[in-house]
Amino acid sequence: TPTIGVLALQGDVAEHLRVLDGLGVRAVPVLRPEELDAVQGLVVPGGESTTMSKLAVRYELMEPLRKHVHEGLPVYGTCAGMIMLADRVLDGIEGQQTIGGIDMTVRRNAFGRQTESFEAPVRIEGIGDEPVEAVFIRAPWVESTGADVRALGQVVHGERAGRIVAVRQGSLLATSFHPELTGDARIHRLFVDMVKGQA
Ligand code: GLN
Repeated sequence: TPTIGVLALQGDVAEHLRVLDGLGVRAVPVLRPEELDAVQGLVVPGGESTTMSKLAVRYELMEPLRKHVHEGLPVYGTCAGMIMLADRVLDGIEGQQTIGGIDMTVRRNAFGRQTESFEAPVRIEGIGDEPVEAVFIRAPWVESTGADVRALGQVVHGERAGRIVAVRQGSLLATSFHPELTGDARIHRLFVDMVKGQA
């Protein structure tokens, strides 16, 4: 049974721990470099990427996170966590740092402000035909991707149709939305399979 960490600096840590628990893996919060060394996969939750980034530096986790990503640790980022995995950020704060690893440019708060949070069906490659009812909260979208990045999901309807909201590059997975808030564990299951080397 793999141990999967949830980066616990800030954000919706408990929700991810609960979903992972339900999938039968060992799920643990990660706040220190030694704890990071002990996991086989990591979730970077939703929250506020600017705050998370500053805390990662303060807790001396930013460099260890980059090292582990570089060495191939499977990581799944949701929303702010997607921003943390992006190599480039638009509409960030000045000097905003990320862990990086996915060769993509994301735009922060791309869909609008908190009051414009919304749900929309998104079809995700690799988890079956039934669309995910995706919850977007001040979400980023993926503005552009490098050649090694696979778009796994796009918004289906409306003026944002076609916007990329789920991507994978090697062992890194990211979604603009929050499956940990919906009771649909299929994307977490995909990630667990990635950690097990089965996806
Ligand atoms: N807007 C937030 C950020 O920039 C992300 C919001 C979220 O994670 N729900 O980090």
